[in-house]
Amino acid sequence: MNQRTVRTAPVTPGAVPTTVLWAFRDRLHRVDGHRIWLGAADKGTTPVLYVDDVRYPARPLAWVLHHDTPPVGLVKAGCRRPLCIHGPHLTDDVTRQRERILYAALHGITLAGPCRTGRHDLAAYGYARPDATTNCRGCDNVRRRITDRSEEYAA
Ligand SMILES: [Zn+2]
Ligand SMILES: [Zn+2]
Repeated sequence: MNQRTVRTAPVTPGAVPTTVLWAFRDRLHRVDGHRIWLGAADKGTTPVLYVDDVRYPARPLAWVLHHDTPPVGLVKAGCRRPLCIHGPHLTDDVTRQRERILYAALHGITLAGPCRTGRHDLAAYGYARPDATTNCRGCDNVRRRITDRSEEYAA
């Protein structure tokens, strides 16, 4: 077996090699206003591009090509179309939080100030639930980490 070393390259705005750009555009397929990824995908859901044994995460790459700025946090397809990597359809932590604030405002809720535990800013971590109560993603994440750990111990 020929085990190749694959390294993951950071995607830098304004510094994406031309060969990578070509390979990237080659793997796009337009469908109903989406751009569906035809290349490799981790777990079948996370688009990845391999060029010369270098691994590029395709959604952050598409984000950088569209916005010319690095994304904050995970890049997801806001349109929920599997494997869509169309620049305008992608969301990062910042755009998703902006949408949560808009959604809350539509329900008469202002996401601002500290969360219930006082550890996070609701403007950055808060979200409104359909029943018009607010929750905090910062606290959700802490809870999730604790749960993950206890599952580890149980195994
Ligand atoms: Zn899409
Ligand atoms: Zn919190």
